[in-house]
Amino acid sequence: MKSPRILPAPGPLPDEGGTLFLWVRRGLPLALAALALVGSTLHGAGRGWWMLIGVAALAAAWPSFLRGKAFLRNRTAIVRQDNLWANAFRPLARWLGQEDAWILSFCGHNNRRVRAAFGTRRARRALILLPHCIQMARCKAGILDDLQACYDCGLCPVGDYMNAALLNRWEGRISNRSHKAYREAREYRPDLIVAVSCADRLLKGLTKIPEIPSYVIPLSLPHGMCVDTDFSVPHLFAAMETLVEPRRPSGEIQPLRREGIA
Ligand code: SF4
Repeated sequence: MKSPRILPAPGPLPDEGGTLFLWVRRGLPLALAALALVGSTLHGAGRGWWMLIGVAALAAAWPSFLRGKAFLRNRTAIVRQDNLWANAFRPLARWLGQEDAWILSFCGHNNRRVRAAFGTRRARRALILLPHCIQMARCKAGILDDLQACYDCGLCPVGDYMNAALLNRWEGRISNRSHKAYREAREYRPDLIVAVSCADRLLKGLTKIPEIPSYVIPLSLPHGMCVDTDFSVPHLFAAMETLVEPRRPSGEIQPLRREGIA
């Protein structure tokens, strides 16, 4: 068994986006409620219908205000509703050429809520989900079966992740199929998922597993989809340090023995 090497200390979590999604998610129902109020004032004959529309609009906006414990208690319904909004406006965002920006704004909004929920009371049973495409395509190390098959050559993010996972006793899965990752997440029953993937798969994952709070980190795709992808390893470290109870053992850490190259 390899011994982990010491990694740089994680920094603070970066600021999350999410303003665009929140403007649409909360702003549209509130605008409709205001319109209904004006309509009920000006159109006395149809006041009942206007009131009904106003109440429905306020009910649609209400979940966007829930934070912390209230969010955790109602997370499945809240995340399902947010997913509906994200998916409903996705075609428009695509038409405007802003599909990824829209999805990442939704992810940022989700992350803000997860941070608010776990910032004070950290998760005890977290699971990291990573896509197999972060491994360099020409590397033959069998990391899908055994993460420690990685030679830690430094050519892809897997080596840094492996060392941090060993050092901190993180539970994680590297998967080459989304449905396998969802199944493993449901089987492990974590109280928090920290997932790395492309924008499309992050939205899909948040839609498929609304019952488990998930902090999501987007991949960068310097070589296109699914090939030699990359992500911010310090961002993952910061998320685990900030949102998850440490499981790191005390004691001196030995440097990793290098046993080969990719
Ligand atoms: S051996 Fe190198 S290229 Fe292969 S998975 Fe590990 S760090 Fe990535």
